[in-house]
Amino acid sequence: MQVVTRFPPSPTGYLHLGGARTALFNWLFARQSGGKMVLRIEDTDRQRSTDEAINVIISALEWLGLEWDEGPYYQTQRLERYKEVIQQLLDQGDAYYCSCSPKRLDKLRKEQREKGIKPRYDRHCRDAGLERKPGRNHVVRFKNPLAGSVSFQDRIRGPVSVQNEELDDLVLERSDGMPTYNLAVVVDDMDMRISHVIRGDDHINNTFRQINIFRALGHDLPEFAHVPLIHGPDRKRLSKRNGDVSVLDYRDRGILPEALVNYLARLGWSHGDQEIFSKEEMIRYFDFRQVNKSSAGFDMEKLLWMNRHYIGRAPIDSLLPEISRILTARLITTENGPGLASAIELVRGRVSTLVELADQIEYFFRPAENYHAEALARHCNDSTPELLRGICTILAGLDSWTRESIGDSLKAYAKSKEVKFSHLAQPLRIAVSGSDQTASIDLTLALLGSVNTIKRTQAFIEYLEQGRTTLSQ
Ligand code: GLU
Repeated sequence: MQVVTRFPPSPTGYLHLGGARTALFNWLFARQSGGKMVLRIEDTDRQRSTDEAINVIISALEWLGLEWDEGPYYQTQRLERYKEVIQQLLDQGDAYYCSCSPKRLDKLRKEQREKGIKPRYDRHCRDAGLERKPGRNHVVRFKNPLAGSVSFQDRIRGPVSVQNEELDDLVLERSDGMPTYNLAVVVDDMDMRISHVIRGDDHINNTFRQINIFRALGHDLPEFAHVPLIHGPDRKRLSKRNGDVSVLDYRDRGILPEALVNYLARLGWSHGDQEIFSKEEMIRYFDFRQVNKSSAGFDMEKLLWMNRHYIGRAPIDSLLPEISRILTARLITTENGPGLASAIELVRGRVSTLVELADQIEYFFRPAENYHAEALARHCNDSTPELLRGICTILAGLDSWTRESIGDSLKAYAKSKEVKFSHLAQPLRIAVSGSDQTASIDLTLALLGSVNTIKRTQAFIEYLEQGRTTLSQ
């Protein structure tokens, strides 16, 4: 049997973390089994589905590198097929027309609630033998078996079952002629030869219903694996406030796709104590038996930790486009600075996101707009201008501008002035970058170049002296 999995988002919003993890598990399992993953857009809710959401979901999957092998199929292009299957179910006596008005159904629900029973359709039209009549508001309902139970072996949760009397005669076709989710999914999973349905466990109650439809259609069941949901760090349902933003927002925050994929794979799945997995390793080791049965908590700190790991090891070339994009959005051009790759190399071991990385290299390409007040107060005093003037002269006279020559001059000068190295290095950092948080000073100045170093140090001396005059006036 060929393994065929599917990822069937409803394009009513962005691709959130839970959806991305479901896509990832489907992708991993398909790749591991030498099978295929189908992408299906479940757009029958025409009011809420938008082209923009479709584009955003597709871009997010592409960004994560979760390529599909078939599709995208669109449910709205398969409406005739759903009608055909609904007709088949009607013809064979497994479905029926129901003309109960919304008013009647509301009243029924209210009465059931008052009696303390679970609201459910009372099968009023099940044996009424109604026919489709033009102008009448019909829905088509499924004749769910009245007795017995539905059981299946979930690849994650083990055996699960429910009594048929717990299940409704669910609607298959709405009064506007559109199929419902449960009908369309079964027809698609059948036609697309889906072998494994891997989805969020919020769908488990739908699975029982879908199994009954599969059976009525005489079709073999796929296997099912229901993935526990992701909750926020506060153990509440994941929401925009506690982490559930669009996958593409993580890109905009400077998260690498490799890091997010690794993080999502580890969220609720484990392989011994290993934390960092290449895609090949994930494909090799992924195993439903190692997926947690309980929901997993989203942890931004851990995602940042992984991102730091991946930023530190990524081939520099792969970081260039995104860093250029961030800098360009800040109207920073990199032509007149050191090579972007060298600047990235200098700071990437110290940052957790690409946005932070861009923050930390910005000053190579444009002088800081202001000096960090706290850093100034901490590292500068009345003797700083004098100290900086001296080092400026020395640096301006260097024959070669290298890390070694700069480092040696700074050390020798600090020694001659009997000041600690940091008393010289910190004001220099502030002079060239605006803050005291740069990489090591010799490397920083070497990369910045002698012209910029001296120009910025002189501007800083002037700034300090002006400040002093103002203060003493
Ligand atoms: N369109 C459904 C959703 O986004 C798919 C559920 C399923 O996998 O069957 O929740």
